[in-house]
Amino acid sequence: MTKQAPTASLRDLPKLDALLSSTPFAPLVDRLGRSLIIEEARAMLEVLRNDMREGGHVFQSELSEAALAGQIERRIAALTDPVQCRVINATGVILHTSLGRAPLSEAAVKAAVAEATGYSCLELDRSTGKRSDRDKLVNGLIERITGAEAATVVNNNAAATMIILNTLAEGKEVVCSRAHMVEIGGSYRMPDVMRKAACKLVEIGTTNKTKAADYEEAITDETTMLLKVHTSNYAIVGFTHETALEELVEIGRRRNVPVVYDLGAGSIIELKKYGITSEPSVPELVRTGADLVCFSGDKLFGGPQAGIIVGRKDLVDRIKKNAYFRMMRCDKMTLALLEHTLKLYLDPENVLQTVPTLRAISRDAEEIKRKARSIATRLKKRGVEAELQDSTSQIGGGSTPGEELPTTVLVIRKLGGSPDAAAKRLRMNTPSVFCRIENDALVFDPRTLLDGQDTELVDAIAAAKN
Ligand SMILES: *Cc1c(COP(=O)(O)O)cnc(C)c1O
Repeated sequence: MTKQAPTASLRDLPKLDALLSSTPFAPLVDRLGRSLIIEEARAMLEVLRNDMREGGHVFQSELSEAALAGQIERRIAALTDPVQCRVINATGVILHTSLGRAPLSEAAVKAAVAEATGYSCLELDRSTGKRSDRDKLVNGLIERITGAEAATVVNNNAAATMIILNTLAEGKEVVCSRAHMVEIGGSYRMPDVMRKAACKLVEIGTTNKTKAADYEEAITDETTMLLKVHTSNYAIVGFTHETALEELVEIGRRRNVPVVYDLGAGSIIELKKYGITSEPSVPELVRTGADLVCFSGDKLFGGPQAGIIVGRKDLVDRIKKNAYFRMMRCDKMTLALLEHTLKLYLDPENVLQTVPTLRAISRDAEEIKRKARSIATRLKKRGVEAELQDSTSQIGGGSTPGEELPTTVLVIRKLGGSPDAAAKRLRMNTPSVFCRIENDALVFDPRTLLDGQDTELVDAIAAAKN
């Protein structure tokens, strides 16, 4: 717009009807519906009218039908543009909480959608025609793959911890080490959760050392739980001692106090052979004798957001009778996704391939290097120089602090402008690309790419070149 452009007066404002029947507006009305366009056009004309009355300058060219149609299109786009969009995670952080934690198995999603689009026997027993329990979709499978006597699910692991505490220890004492006063993120802080669950927290030991005798001595007639919390997102190193679950179980049995483990990440399979030693598996903890274990559905398990509770049947039955249970219950879509993710675990040979989180963890270092090399070759053809470098990937999602997986990353030093500006162009791509910035360079880790995303990543990087 130049300064010489003619200024519009109120008389130049088009009438709503004329606008709607004009050529530039016809495709908008077709695509987005008449009532939305009327509403938006009315609001836009009102803004313009007020602007002009208050002496604001509006050029005649801004009032053309094409210009006004364009403005309306932008107003509606701002409303409907996806905030949530498809993402390529090249950060190398497998469980990235801000990027939605675990990507779901495609097979599980397909099966779940097929079930959830129709009516289902969510709470009905086909053989009797009577009311039944929605837990039956998943509890048999959870018991099978964890070896637990009983299982139930709620909406997330924070809810699982809350309902366990409230059920077993309302108004009573819970013994917990000072090393386990964790904050997981947001408002999840163990002492606050205890207070909300109406429990009396009995803190024992110190930040770095808590001995079996500390638990033993803290038990009174009012004690209803020994709680162990996995220090998911930090590590205490150096002069330390944590009481092993075996010892807690022994004390709990002898003194008749249930032992509960808030595990968080919750892997079903052993991760030791992938170099991850700080994540005990759920079956291992169940075998060791924890009375209850709870963990997230969308961390290492690789399913939907959920809180999975496994352990003694009498305790699970009590949890399900708590009034909170109804407030925390999962919907049919979550249950269907859980059910079909659980089924993948029945085939342990293939689960490393079918569950994306496990696939990313178990990916062979050589496979990653080959992938990095092939991406670099393809980028070179598109005029982008990428160097290969040894680096590490992280599990993330508040799990396995300090434990990293070896990987080969692509390092791009020049993509035009500052690294921050280039990273923003990549984020604004469709699909949106997330990488790391290290030493003023963009760093892409192929470990967290899903199948078929290599080409999309190459295209996105080439498109972001400036
Ligand atoms: C992640 C985590 C939680 C919270 O689980 P959500 O599924 O995010 O609600 C609770 N406790 C521990 C130890 C965790 O790691």
